[in-house]
Amino acid sequence: MQRLRVLEASAMPALPLTDLPPAPPFEATGETPSLVGLTRAALGDALQSAGVPERQIRMRASQIWHWLYFRGVTDFAAMTNMSKALRGALAERFTLTRPEIVTEQISEDGTRKWLLRFPPRGAGRPVEAETVYIPEEGRGTLCVSSQVGCSLTCTFCHTGTQRMVRNLTAEEIVAQILVARDRLGDFPDIATPQGAVVPSEGRLVSNVVMMGMGEPLYNFDNVKDALLIAADGEGIALSKRRITLSTSGIVPMIPRTGAEMGVMLAISLHAVRDDLRDELVPINKKWPLAELLEACRAYPGLSNARRITFEYVMLKGVNDSLAEAKELVRLLKGIPAKINLIPFNPWPGARYECSEWERIEAFADVVNRAGYASPIRTPRGRDIFAACGQLKSASERVRKREREAVAAS
Ligand code: SAH
Ligand code: SF4
Repeated sequence: MQRLRVLEASAMPALPLTDLPPAPPFEATGETPSLVGLTRAALGDALQSAGVPERQIRMRASQIWHWLYFRGVTDFAAMTNMSKALRGALAERFTLTRPEIVTEQISEDGTRKWLLRFPPRGAGRPVEAETVYIPEEGRGTLCVSSQVGCSLTCTFCHTGTQRMVRNLTAEEIVAQILVARDRLGDFPDIATPQGAVVPSEGRLVSNVVMMGMGEPLYNFDNVKDALLIAADGEGIALSKRRITLSTSGIVPMIPRTGAEMGVMLAISLHAVRDDLRDELVPINKKWPLAELLEACRAYPGLSNARRITFEYVMLKGVNDSLAEAKELVRLLKGIPAKINLIPFNPWPGARYECSEWERIEAFADVVNRAGYASPIRTPRGRDIFAACGQLKSASERVRKREREAVAAS
């Protein structure tokens, strides 16, 4: 924690993210397993392996769950309703350590961005990913990453220019929520920093969106475990209506998202014709618009109270004509939907520009007249490169030869 650099936007040169320090060289992994990110069943198995008697497993798992996710403790010693011997046995086998916070940046508008460093998994190197907190009137949204880099190459997205490094584990996904709550004072025993806006119901992180780095439906199992932990009523306890998963359109996984996670769905649509969407969101070539919208129509639990959000990035002269606005409304007919127009957030080397403000408003008017309310998303944290599509870390994929060298050593 002493190494944490906190950067205020006003005092901070706007560093291109590529200037972040490169990931350090290989370290011994010393992989002590963590108890964070385990399903309840897996937590029970871990306790059993530490010698907890069968008849105590459920109770102990519940106690630990409460310490980890409700109180946010990072040390077994704090778990005072368990014997010293048990705490010692757990501490010998498991860790509760949080990822290292490499930087914390605070935007002029209160948005915060953390660059987190996760230890190596197997024969890899440490990797870095970003998490963003967006305080608003009445809510605080945490934008969580699912992968380091992305295997997809959407042409308007900065993350898409970083090669896929690896999936984040369920532990690493949950840890992003825990770190944010640590830093915001959002656990019961940690003081809330002065001046922090506490949104409704007294919690700072009231919503989670899987809209950080990566494609969450290409990391289904880990994202599922992490989101079910976030929704568990005895811990972080976020309502599933306050958890949103955004996908570029991995069609076969959409029904499973509804059935197994039951969270809110957002679709990165961005175009209303296949030829343009093929270019902007290349995964469209595999699962074109008709198939994507079919999967949306069939999304489990869909109703007017539980709508799908369609995201549409406004790219000047590319997808922002009023004819496209009308086509958008036509395409979504019959699907309980919200439309979110996202002003394009620029990044160094991007080939697009954001649409003119008047054009975005005219586009929004067409959408509004069709019955969708105030759909323009205000860009947040642009000064710290924290806005949608601006996230990227310096982590690179380990080359095969390096991987083999580590495995052999
Ligand atoms: N991979 C997932 C989730 C992460 S991206 C997905 O694509 O949905 C989160 C949202 O930001 C997506 O809607 C994405 O299309 C959008 N986005 C990406 N780059 C952007 C940019 N430069 N400006 C505005 N929005 C962007
Ligand atoms: Fe990946 Fe989403 Fe960016 Fe596309 S928009 S490159 S799917 S993170």
